[in-house]
Amino acid sequence: MTAIKDIAAERQRQINMEGWTAAHDDTHDLGQIAAAAGVYALVASGRHLDVAAQFWPWDYQWWKPCDARRNLVKAGALIVAEIQRLDRAAGLEPEHTCSSQYRMRELPDPDCPACTPSDTPPEVDPIQAAIDADNGGQP
Ligand SMILES: [Zn+2]
Repeated sequence: MTAIKDIAAERQRQINMEGWTAAHDDTHDLGQIAAAAGVYALVASGRHLDVAAQFWPWDYQWWKPCDARRNLVKAGALIVAEIQRLDRAAGLEPEHTCSSQYRMRELPDPDCPACTPSDTPPEVDPIQAAIDADNGGQP
């Protein structure tokens, strides 16, 4: 189970340390996350680093290859992130991607789609609602 645990820990590290929250990942809607995962997996396969790196979707400052096992853990975590992004885009039930700071304190993470569903209606000011009702429902 160590390999899957390591991938889950890496995914959490990406959220906590790199700031790759659900909202951030949702901006990468052109397959960039899947491409990044592929690049890490290609390099882990022993393909020449330059050949693999030409498919890197972002600025090279974010390209941080390590040894083969670590590259595969990064690839796995990026694949999980991309699957979660696709599921959100398809309107499936969101998964918790909250950062550990919020989880430890059992507080809702505003960047986590499962903690703060986007279809929750905004809080209505009851006084303003009463004024609007008096005006025939016109704000
Ligand atoms: Zn959450």
